[in-house]
Amino acid sequence: MKNVRYAKCVNCGRIYEAVPSLTTCGCGGILDIVYDYGYIRQKLTKEKLKTRPHTMWRYRELLPVEEDTPAPPLRVGGSPLYEAQRLGKMLGVRKLWIKDDGQNPTASLKDRASAMAVAKAREAGAQIIACSSTGNAASSLAGNAAAAGLKTFIFVPERAPKGKVAQLMTFGANVISVQGNYEETFELSKVAIERWGWYNRNAAINPYLSEGKKTVSLEIAEQLSWQMPDYLAISVGDGCTVAGVWKGLKDLYEIGFIDKLPRLISAQAEGCHPINRAIATGEAWYPMEENTLADSIAVGVPRNADKALRAIRESNGLVVNVTDEEIMAAQRLLGTTCGVFGEPAGVTGTAGLKKLCEQGVIGEEDTVVSVVTGNGLKDVANAIRFCGEPMRLPNDLDLLIDEFQKRGIQP
Ligand SMILES: *Cc1c(COP(=O)(O)O)cnc(C)c1O
Ligand SMILES: [Zn+2]
Repeated sequence: MKNVRYAKCVNCGRIYEAVPSLTTCGCGGILDIVYDYGYIRQKLTKEKLKTRPHTMWRYRELLPVEEDTPAPPLRVGGSPLYEAQRLGKMLGVRKLWIKDDGQNPTASLKDRASAMAVAKAREAGAQIIACSSTGNAASSLAGNAAAAGLKTFIFVPERAPKGKVAQLMTFGANVISVQGNYEETFELSKVAIERWGWYNRNAAINPYLSEGKKTVSLEIAEQLSWQMPDYLAISVGDGCTVAGVWKGLKDLYEIGFIDKLPRLISAQAEGCHPINRAIATGEAWYPMEENTLADSIAVGVPRNADKALRAIRESNGLVVNVTDEEIMAAQRLLGTTCGVFGEPAGVTGTAGLKKLCEQGVIGEEDTVVSVVTGNGLKDVANAIRFCGEPMRLPNDLDLLIDEFQKRGIQP
């Protein structure tokens, strides 16, 4: 990889050759991929991008893969960025865009990391990939691996919503539903991966994954013609997404594609916000209970805390915690004003943005991108619980008229 110099431990600074099966440092720290930006600046131009297909692989010069590694089969990336005029007006910001990453092949941003895992597993010559996940890393790995003809072993906590489990079973994964929380699920996957030597797609453990996730901010920048917003709002669990988003922005800054870095908005659930707590108190992070219906960010022991905390601080970012009610209100608001259906964790960034607007922290001078990280169809039970049931009646126009009157609906 001519564009990659090495991998470096974010904890002790030790340097590693960037081999495909890289995991964590001997000291327990997580690794960061370090690029040769001088080389990339020569190789990649904005002009060159214009002719390429709209997938995450259009940014190959900024990705840690060999030049001849084939892009995995599923179309990952190229998700829409909508200007949300009505929602922006309601929230009182100057401009608001919604990046709908629920439109990836398995319906979450995690596809960006899983496609990278498949590419790197192939480079490593591996036939089997494994991970533990709150759900989306699992379903995206299962789908992307299935398309590439690779076998998967996947560990999910028993609370994983049905939509995600259905995806796993349909993609033919070996699924282990662990009777415990995400932390316990992770621990079982860890010892099983050690026991059988599978390619490891665990969040943060494999340093290539957040390099895949960073393509979401590369896309946002390109979709905005390289004019960056003031803020970028994202939901945070393990912290790989927020760190990846920041990495992508810094990459673009380093190669001279953008001249401004947005401030990150880290949104977590009130019932589980160990990363935001560490930012707010200035202390080290420590574990927290996993007490939220936003299952994808119910992460009490974040695996990528070091990189996430660094990203939020470097960006001079904001942290905001939202209740489950606020999350579900944001789900409905995105649905009614934008026609975008996000899963609870998928809309938590928007819920956080709404709260910051209500608090007057963000206002009419500001431009914001909010990333919806997962599709609402993954968890229909919660959506129905909060958005309610339809009108229910037999084939009878008079009853329909009555019902409209009762509910004050103007036909
Ligand atoms: C995984 C996930 C997140 C959070 O990403 P982390 O890297 O765990 O911080 C947010 N939303 C959705 C839908 C996810 O699947
Ligand atoms: Zn180290």
